[in-house]
Amino acid sequence: MKMQSPSSILILTDQNSENKLSSYITEILQMEGFLEYEVKDLSGSELDVDELLRHDIVVLSNIPLSSSQKAILTAYVQKGGGLIGLRPPKELGFLFRVRPLGDTLSERYIKLETQHPLSEGMEAETLQYHGEADIYALNGAQPLAYLCQDLDCPTRYPAIATHEYARGRTAIFAYDLAASTVLFHQGRSSQSSIGDYPDPDSDGMFKPTDLFLNQIDIRLKHIPQADIQQDILVNIIEWMAGFTKPLPRVWYFPDREKGLVFIGGDSDGMNLKDFETTISTVEKYSGVFTTYLMEEQYGVVTPQEEQSLREKGHSFGPHLWHGQRPSLSEKRQGIKEEIKHFRECYGYTPLSSRGHSVIWVGWTEQAKYLSESGIRLSCDFTGGKYIGAGYVTGSGLPWKFINKEGHILDIYEQPYQICDDGSMHDKSCLPPLTLEEAIQRSYEFMDAAFKKYHTVFQLSLHPIYIGGSADLPSKEWLEAVLAKCKQENLRTVSADEWVRFNDGRRAIEFRRLEYYPKRGVLTFDFKGSIPVKGITLMLPVKHLGRAVSSVAVDNAPVEYNLTALGGTEYAVFVVDIRHTEWHRVEANYTGEQSFVGESFR
Ligand SMILES: [Zn+2]
Repeated sequence: MKMQSPSSILILTDQNSENKLSSYITEILQMEGFLEYEVKDLSGSELDVDELLRHDIVVLSNIPLSSSQKAILTAYVQKGGGLIGLRPPKELGFLFRVRPLGDTLSERYIKLETQHPLSEGMEAETLQYHGEADIYALNGAQPLAYLCQDLDCPTRYPAIATHEYARGRTAIFAYDLAASTVLFHQGRSSQSSIGDYPDPDSDGMFKPTDLFLNQIDIRLKHIPQADIQQDILVNIIEWMAGFTKPLPRVWYFPDREKGLVFIGGDSDGMNLKDFETTISTVEKYSGVFTTYLMEEQYGVVTPQEEQSLREKGHSFGPHLWHGQRPSLSEKRQGIKEEIKHFRECYGYTPLSSRGHSVIWVGWTEQAKYLSESGIRLSCDFTGGKYIGAGYVTGSGLPWKFINKEGHILDIYEQPYQICDDGSMHDKSCLPPLTLEEAIQRSYEFMDAAFKKYHTVFQLSLHPIYIGGSADLPSKEWLEAVLAKCKQENLRTVSADEWVRFNDGRRAIEFRRLEYYPKRGVLTFDFKGSIPVKGITLMLPVKHLGRAVSSVAVDNAPVEYNLTALGGTEYAVFVVDIRHTEWHRVEANYTGEQSFVGESFR
C-alpha cells in the first residue's frame, strides 16, 4: 500500500529468505481488509527502533534475523510496540514469554483455548496447520491455542500465545501462519502434475483435488480452516490496536452482506432448452447464474443472447478443455487459443473460467496462464475423488495464488463447495447423496456461510441436468437453494460482479490515520481507484474505554450499524466509490461502552 504517513501496521519480510511463502502475510491482510500497512524488506536494509516505533504493530514474518535486528525488535516491544511473530527465531522466544524446548511438530492441529479473552465469540474448533511448529513451554505468555497431536489430543505446548507487558504487547504463532495458509489454499506442489507424485488419486487426470489428497483431514472439510486462523490474527491485531488507534477494515462483501451465494454451471452437452430452463428457474427467484461454456456450446448461446443476459446480471466464461493430462505447454497454448476463440465469438475477454473436469496443471502454473490470458477469477478448486464436498482449500473467500518464488499472482481463486455430478454420482468414491441429502448439505453450508464463517457458498449445477436432458434432479436442488435465498434474503452473485467488487475493494487506500485520545476522535482519509458500489467499512466500536457515538464522511453524518464479529464489535457503514478522490472520515469515540452485537441488517 502506498502511504503518505506511517501506516499502523508494518510487515517485515526478507526477499532473500529461503521461505518465499512467508510474504503471503500481505495477501492475508488484503483478504481480511486491513489495507493500511507497509512492507519493509530486510534484505540489505537495517532496522531502526525509532522507525519501528512510528508503527503501532509490527508483523514479523518467518525470516532469519541478525542479532542486532533481534535486539531492535526487543527494544521496540520494551518501548511500547506491538509485535506479532509468525514462527519467529527461537532465540526471540523470551520476548514472547515462551521457552523453546528444541523440538518441532509437523502437519498437526491447533485447538483454541476458550479461556483466553481473544477467543471470545469464536468456536473452539480443532484445526490443522501445515508445515512445522516450534515446541515451546509457556513462560508467562497466555495461551490462545495449543498444539494438538490429533483432533482431541491437545498438548501443553502453545500454538498461539499472547503477552501484555506494562507497555508493549506480543503474540507468537509457533507455526508460520503465512506459509500454512498458502499450503491450505494451494495444496502440495509435490502432488501437482509436474511434482514428484502427480495424480495421487490415480484417476488418470490432473485435478486440484490431487493437491489436497492426504493433506486435508476430511473430518474437517466442512470448516474453512484457513479463514478461521485468519480470524484469530484479526482478533490479535484488533487487541493490539486497542491500545493505540482503531483500525478501519473493509468487509469481505458488499452492502453489509454476511455471505454470498454463487451459483454456476458448466455447459457440458446442454441444448438451448436446458440453458433456457436454467436461466428462467434462476430468474424466477431473482437470482443470477454464471455459465461456463464449452466451445461446442458457443452455438447454443448466441452473442446477442449472451450480451442481453449479461446486462441482466448473469455472467459467462469459458469451460476450458485440453485433455485429461496436458503438459504445461499444451495447457498454456490451449488456454490462449480458447480464450481467443471466446473473445472472437462474444466480443470481450472473459473475467472468469472453469475447466471441464477441472483439469489443473502445475502448482500455480495454470493460474499464471489463466492470468496472462486475462482471466481474473478461477473457479476450479474443489474436493473431488476421496474428498468430496467441502472447503477443500480451507477458505470460502476469494484468495490469490503465490508461486514458489514468492510472487503473488493477480488472479483470484473462488473455490466451490459442492457440485451435482460430483456429489450425486459415486465418482468421488464416496456414497452418492440423494436429492434430500444434497439439499440438506447445501442448507448447512449456507447457514454456516452466512451465520458463522462469512464465506461465499458456491454451488455448481449443470444445465443439462437442470433442463432435463440428462438424469439428475439438479433442477429441484437449484430451486431449493434459490427458495432459501429468497426466503432469507441471501444475495446471489455472478462471477463478473464478484471480480469487479473484489478488485474495487482491494484498491481502497487509507492515509493520515490519527486518533486524538483527549477528544476521542479518529480521523482518516480513504479513496478507491476503481468505481465500486457497496464498500462496507468497519471500525471497532470500542476504544480506550469509550464507544463510537457518531461517524461522518466528508463532514456529513453517516448511518452505521453495530455488529459483533469474532471477538470485536464493529460500527459498520457503506460507501460507494465513484471517483478517484480522497474522502475524509471522522469518528467520535465519546459514547458509553455497552454491549451491542446487533445484526448487520
Ligand atoms: Zn464440464
